[in-house]
Amino acid sequence: MITVINPKYIYTPQGYVEGLAIAFDEYILAIDTPKALQKLYPEAKSINTGENSILYPGFINVHTHLEYSANRTRLVYGDFLKWLESVIKERDNLIGQLDDKVMEQSCKEMLSCGITSFGAISTFGADLEVCRKTPQRVTYFNEIIGSNPASVDILYQDFLKRFNASKESKSEDRITPAIAIHAPHSTHPIVVKKAVKLAKDENTPLSCHFLESLAERQWLESAEGDFKEFFKNYLNSQKPVTNIKEFLEHFDGYPSLFVHAVHTTKNEREYLAKQGHTIAHCPRSNRLLGSGRYPIEESKAKFALATDGLSSNWSLNIFDEMRCAIMLHQKAPLQELANRLIESITINGAKAIRSDAGRIQKGAVADFALINLPQTCKNKEDLALHTIIHTKEVNRVWIGGKLCKN
Ligand SMILES: [Zn+2]
Repeated sequence: MITVINPKYIYTPQGYVEGLAIAFDEYILAIDTPKALQKLYPEAKSINTGENSILYPGFINVHTHLEYSANRTRLVYGDFLKWLESVIKERDNLIGQLDDKVMEQSCKEMLSCGITSFGAISTFGADLEVCRKTPQRVTYFNEIIGSNPASVDILYQDFLKRFNASKESKSEDRITPAIAIHAPHSTHPIVVKKAVKLAKDENTPLSCHFLESLAERQWLESAEGDFKEFFKNYLNSQKPVTNIKEFLEHFDGYPSLFVHAVHTTKNEREYLAKQGHTIAHCPRSNRLLGSGRYPIEESKAKFALATDGLSSNWSLNIFDEMRCAIMLHQKAPLQELANRLIESITINGAKAIRSDAGRIQKGAVADFALINLPQTCKNKEDLALHTIIHTKEVNRVWIGGKLCKN
């Protein structure tokens, strides 16, 4: 069945447009004047969008951890190492409290704010069933971690098993199997090499946490800082398994998603941009873990805003994240920042996860989030800002042309 929707504004890769409607089934069939579409599709069902409506492509949250959805107050915030130690200490409790219901709630929260695609970092494979059932498109990032050469083979085999299980879900569901390398300090270069090769061979999205904390940078550069004690105590290790340059070069020629990147240098950020990588920018997570602020004003690499998991955040609502980003990047010109944020959760997010969602154009998937502003907004330049500050939940969501939230 074909539907025609005629909102006040449509957010397209060229910006906000007025006076146009969209005809869609599973895909966007045409974008034209309401009159032309009525003629072309006289049988189509039409939708009343209400006052001051804006139709966005479904939003994309490129980085979250569903498997940590049970956390509320168990973890220690404010300092990265203290947080990490609390994760290790509380892991069994958090996993013990985790069931499908808890993770489904996370998916629902994302749906209610218009997230129609998300990137789930899966450490244990416990979230696969939930990801198979959720209406959203999921980029299922099977995570590989392990710096001890004695155990990397076993860990890699376990990772391959999980990767293959997610591959089996591919045809029947909206799941895209993908690969996540945990981080440079925690993953042996032999494994990094293998995982990157696998991503290239299978043409899957690829992601890694990168220079999230100052401690990580100090450890990789000089085997010093807060990680020194940590590696000695937990892994009986005195020096890092790689350095920043060596780690980065593994990804050359294969645009990937680098998560956080807070403690990158200007040169490294330029390198990331040159290689076509995208930064997953998680401002609330970075703030809560005492990591600092990623300088988006200095970044030539494109960024995609993301919530991270509930292990380092209080909600998976992308509007909460955008509002905090607006407050955190206090020197950025306001309207321009608002526009960059919307771009980051649509077209940039799509590019980072190698998806053709995230844009309203002919032939694209019919994934939409419909919002209504509380009053008329006369300046197009202000639409992004007012969308961000006035929206807690979106009004309706379509995924693949199907109404998923009413
Ligand atoms: Zn993460």
